[in-house]
Amino acid sequence: MADRKSFHMTPQEFRRRGREVVDWIADYMERVEELPVLSQARPGEVRSQLPDAPPATGEPFEAVLADLERIILPGVTHWQSPNFYAYFPSNNSGPSILGELLSAGIGVQGMLWATSPACTELETHVLDWLVEMLDLPRKFLSSGDGGGVIQDTASSATLCALLAARERATDFAAGDAGCRRPLVAYTSTQAHSSIEKAVRIAGLGSDQLRLIDVDDDYAMLPEVLERQIEADLEAGLEPCFVTAAVGTTSSNAIDPVVRIGEICRRHGLWLHVDAAMSGTAALCPEHRAINRGLELADSYCFNPHKWMFTNFDCDCFWVADRSALVRSLSVLPEYLRNQATESGAVIDYRDWQVPLGRRFRALKLWLVIRHYGVEGLRFHVRRHIELARAFASWVEEDTDFELAAPVPLNLVCFRHRGGNAVNQEIMDRLNASGALYLTHTKLGDDFVLRMSIGQAHTEERHVAMAWELIREAAGQVTGASA
Ligand SMILES: *Cc1c(COP(=O)(O)O)cnc(C)c1O
Repeated sequence: MADRKSFHMTPQEFRRRGREVVDWIADYMERVEELPVLSQARPGEVRSQLPDAPPATGEPFEAVLADLERIILPGVTHWQSPNFYAYFPSNNSGPSILGELLSAGIGVQGMLWATSPACTELETHVLDWLVEMLDLPRKFLSSGDGGGVIQDTASSATLCALLAARERATDFAAGDAGCRRPLVAYTSTQAHSSIEKAVRIAGLGSDQLRLIDVDDDYAMLPEVLERQIEADLEAGLEPCFVTAAVGTTSSNAIDPVVRIGEICRRHGLWLHVDAAMSGTAALCPEHRAINRGLELADSYCFNPHKWMFTNFDCDCFWVADRSALVRSLSVLPEYLRNQATESGAVIDYRDWQVPLGRRFRALKLWLVIRHYGVEGLRFHVRRHIELARAFASWVEEDTDFELAAPVPLNLVCFRHRGGNAVNQEIMDRLNASGALYLTHTKLGDDFVLRMSIGQAHTEERHVAMAWELIREAAGQVTGASA
């Protein structure tokens, strides 16, 4: 010990262990299909196998890998399994994992342009590429008044949009009580919980969020939105922010963004469009209808970490007027002053987000786009949508089942006609079996099963097997209760 110079892992050892870890991940990719999708661990089971105290002296790397296998893996729900249909996809890919590794290896802090120019410029560039790739309005390009930034999540993107909307509505009073009248925000009854959370964090309060009614397809009713805005104006309040969803989490409903945008324009409200999962579909020209109305939006976001083969976390967020965002979020202390910032010639992304520090996330996105190319990404997105359509057609042809909502893209909401308890029982049986993993939602009073198709390696044979297992489980459940 006395002659030991340090406790660090040497580059030589890193090389060896790094290869082992990459091998471990490659093996995992090969066997993940065979593992029970939903972890069957009971509460506390993982912790009960961990030592009470941390090691006083370093342990051999083999011991850590062995515990990964023995303790951690049984407590993992396999989001990368091709039999994972729960919630939403959170897919990854070889290039994305390698990009993440490179980002960790380079280990920069990209808070300012000056703290690592490539971290900022690659991000700006890739987000400009994505404007073209998704055919988004050109106002989101960094060459105009707008621009894009990578946030950790759609939740953060929505919060930043709301903060900018709040500041714009209060003449940039910097979060002061500069607001003369209480601000009001709007979204639909189907909107994601992150919107209410943002409204709370931004200080408006949950009471100031209006949940607008939806039509039979679960899309926001614009006439109800406008009536509510007018009623709030009449009551002396200050409407300031609307979030429309392109693909709600519950049923993939697509709000009528054109009509909502016209209402926002008329009344001077900030329109944020949340396309967290579904935005990826716009890679394909035949699905670009989901972009309709974006020319009226002040901000837009989608998550490559859901359906674009980029591991968590990576949300792309664009604003039409970056000065509103930067004015809302910029605080410049002396210790961060530098020439590049003063010159005004660079972007400092710390001013586009809540935290100061930031990771080099653009690297993994860059690797993904360069590996697949636009055509490769389209190919896989199309396949997922085709699989969802095939699944939906099987549901429709089966007299025991029915679709519970339209299927615009890759999410199928469906149910057994036997009622809520039967559907719950079907889902619980399937998830306990480990063969696949499904989750549910409530649409009206109905307990509805959600088949979300978007894992990187989900093929027709997986979806066909899932349908077989669902029907089999239904047979057991209804047979047992008959
Ligand atoms: C998944 C989802 C979110 C939340 O995404 P995070 O990135 O985890 O914050 C928000 N809105 C919609 C429509 C979603 O599908």
